[in-house]
Amino acid sequence: MRSQATYGALFTPEVYGSIVGLFELNNLCLVSDPVVENYFLHIDELPAAEKAAAQVTTGPLLDALDRDYDKACEGTAYYPLQACVNHSCAPNAHAMKRERDVTGSAVLLALRPLSVGEEVTISYVDEGMKLSARRAELRDYGFHCTCPRCVDDEARKKASKDKGKGKSKSSSSSKRAV
Ligand SMILES: [Zn+2]
Repeated sequence: MRSQATYGALFTPEVYGSIVGLFELNNLCLVSDPVVENYFLHIDELPAAEKAAAQVTTGPLLDALDRDYDKACEGTAYYPLQACVNHSCAPNAHAMKRERDVTGSAVLLALRPLSVGEEVTISYVDEGMKLSARRAELRDYGFHCTCPRCVDDEARKKASKDKGKGKSKSSSSSKRAV
C-alpha cells in the first residue's frame, strides 16, 4: 500500500508513454552475437559424456532450428552516452551498429577528422532533407535547430525570398510603365 502511494504516480499511461517516446527517439539498432550458435558451440566443447547428455535435449532443438541457429540477434537498445550526443544537421559523427559490431557496444564513427575539444554531433534525422522537413521532424525532439547549416539555409532562403520580392516589384512597376 505504501509503495503504491509512493510510486503510484509513476505507473500512469502518460509516464509510460514518455518512457517509450524517449526510447524511440534515442535508441540505436543493436546486433549481437548469435547467442543460440554460441550455446551450441559451448555444448560441442563439453567433455564427451556431458556433451552426449546435453545433446539428448539440444539435438531436437538444433534440428528444429535448422539453419536459423546461427543468425545474429537484431533489435534496438538504449545507450545513455550516445543518447547524450547533441544533434547537428551537418554532423561530424554517425551513430551506428555495423554487422561486425557484435559486442553490444554502440559505435560513433567520425565523419571527418575531429579537433581536440570539438563537440561530437550526430544527426537525429535524415540530413539529406530540406530545412523545413528537418525542422518538422526535429520538433518531436522538442527543439528548433539553429545549427550552422540551418542558419545558413535560413539565410539563403530569406535572401532568395527578398530577391523574389525585388523581382516582382520591378516587374509590376515595368507593367505600370507599359
Ligand atoms: Zn540544423
